[in-house]
Amino acid sequence: MEYKQKTAADKKSCANCGAEMKYKPGSEQLACEYCGYEEFIAQEKSSFEELELDHYLQTVGNNVFTDTIDMIDCKHCGANQHIEENYKTLSCVYCGEPLLIADAHPEGWIKPGAVVPFQLDVKKARRAFKKWIGGVWFAPNKLKKAALDPEAIHGLYLPYWTFDAQCKASYTGQRGDYYYVTETYRSNGKTQTRQVRKTRWSQAAGNVSGFIDDILISASAQKQNQIPSKISRWNLKSLVPFDGKFLAGFVTEKYTVSLKDGHHSAFQRAKKITYDWIRADIGGDTQRISSADMSLSEETFKHILLPIYISAYKFKGKTYRFYVNGQTGQVSGKHPYSFWKIFFLVITILIAIGILAMFAQQ
Ligand SMILES: [Zn+2]
Ligand SMILES: [Zn+2]
Repeated sequence: MEYKQKTAADKKSCANCGAEMKYKPGSEQLACEYCGYEEFIAQEKSSFEELELDHYLQTVGNNVFTDTIDMIDCKHCGANQHIEENYKTLSCVYCGEPLLIADAHPEGWIKPGAVVPFQLDVKKARRAFKKWIGGVWFAPNKLKKAALDPEAIHGLYLPYWTFDAQCKASYTGQRGDYYYVTETYRSNGKTQTRQVRKTRWSQAAGNVSGFIDDILISASAQKQNQIPSKISRWNLKSLVPFDGKFLAGFVTEKYTVSLKDGHHSAFQRAKKITYDWIRADIGGDTQRISSADMSLSEETFKHILLPIYISAYKFKGKTYRFYVNGQTGQVSGKHPYSFWKIFFLVITILIAIGILAMFAQQ
């Protein structure tokens, strides 16, 4: 089977030399690596398309899709990925094992509504890795070298769902106000006093309502994909309407958490927010919620893509991954320790202590 670009409209070849064009991070342009020709990504839409949730969940069902995308599943770790580049050699973003272009097959998906385009280019990502791993003195030198291998660093767009909804709830409960009483007690045969906190409860009932905006739910169920929470924070104000051209030169992961499951998580999140509103509405020092009749309306959702750089590297049979947030440059990762570096450090310290002890005795 031959791997082909989807449609002529999606093809991003250079108008000047015909080479493949890639999205240039931090810009709104595609750039040709060979001749330097640049082309603006025309933003046709000025606002995001919020999709009506009810329609997708009930009318179209769980296997809903609006578009197709070519995916390759990694035979080694099972991770799925869409690669928008004619690499000579392909390797899995998660485990570094080779991928076969012959394994590419089209799959249906709900086309993303918005994307935070990469702000950092791969050079900046490498510099961030280098700085981070350079600061980790105990990491083996071999690992340091391999982690910086440009072949091992991939820019990946991660899938997320975001949900918006109008929420209202009527509730009953109790408001608790603290007060203090003075109690006397006997200790060592003497009468003493102390202040004791009590709560006065009163009935409470009412209604709360508001708009819940952009509940962000990870749409990746892949086990390998445990992006540390420290770096999975993006500024969603930088979202722009989706255009396939932003994916040029990068890898894209297709969601593996269904819209329905994503919505279920979002509902739990909305419930928590509503309970906070109710507590604030009841007031007092502490609250009890007896019943809350909550309903969401005008629910909409978006499928969005967020940028991250991953460097997957094998060291002594174990896979290690380093991450750089593609928007903020925040770095995180795990690494093995070098036995010999630690061994020699301990020996050096012991010798130093020995010498000091000798001087102290004299
Ligand atoms: Zn060109
Ligand atoms: Zn893999």
